[in-house]
Amino acid sequence: MSELQQGETSVSRDFSDSQTMIHFEKVTKRYGDLVVLDELELKIAANEKVAIIGPSGSGKTTVLRMLMTLERINGGVIYVDGEPLTHMKQGERLVSADRAHLRRMRASIGMVFQHFNLFPHMSALQNCMQAPVSVLGLSKPEARERAVELLEMVGLGDKNEHYPAQLSGGQQQRVAIARALAMRPKVMLFDEVTSALDPELCGEVLQVIRKLGEQYNLTMLMVTHQMGFAKEFADRVCFFDSGRIEEQGPADVFFDNPKNPRTQQFLKAVL
Ligand code: ADP
Repeated sequence: MSELQQGETSVSRDFSDSQTMIHFEKVTKRYGDLVVLDELELKIAANEKVAIIGPSGSGKTTVLRMLMTLERINGGVIYVDGEPLTHMKQGERLVSADRAHLRRMRASIGMVFQHFNLFPHMSALQNCMQAPVSVLGLSKPEARERAVELLEMVGLGDKNEHYPAQLSGGQQQRVAIARALAMRPKVMLFDEVTSALDPELCGEVLQVIRKLGEQYNLTMLMVTHQMGFAKEFADRVCFFDSGRIEEQGPADVFFDNPKNPRTQQFLKAVL
């Protein structure tokens, strides 16, 4: 953890020639009169690691929820790997072809939540096998092999048969990461994955995320309050305020020399 707290900055990588994996094109989201996202424009390249930071209520989680198609949108288009999620507009009805499309799109995106959301009545292994069997149609032996490998990768090779209640918060979160990876997603979304953890358990979760960032070609989008980790992990940091990206840039430039007064004020308060 001390390593993370010291916060080396990630070396800036250039994604200008890379394929776009996620594209929010003028995306608007409202709850009643409240405009949560205001014509959001955001492009994320394949394999890019992006951290979203900003004050509470600025729309960060909504961005992730819309990518997971857990929320309908009021305007604009979201593309994932070139495919639009246009049918998620407010008021539109889903036909069965849309539902099949949504299932496929959802399977290509893994999300890890603040509160783990593991199935309490299933072991770590069963938690990781469930969706690959029921959604992807893998045989149980195939799903088991994949789950065993991933639990080993997150450092829980000796906890396969443990139930969530028998694991620490950090261990449960690592099972949740393995479970999301078991679907072989193109994109991984992390929503405040260390917020519910005691500080001493954050390090093990962040180390796993860093490791999988190095090992797999995954596009990653992370909402975080941990500036040290954002600085070290992310290729790009986006600062959200009132549903808009107020400032963004390579992690080193962003943290060392923020330009926008709102960003400066925010960083001063949290660092
Ligand atoms: P953040 O993740 O930056 O804290 P959120 O994306 O969770 O912000 O929320 C943005 C705004 O949208 C907040 O003002 C929040 O109260 C509002 N909001 C989120 N979900 C709902 C909902 N289901 N109904 C009404 N308002 C919501």
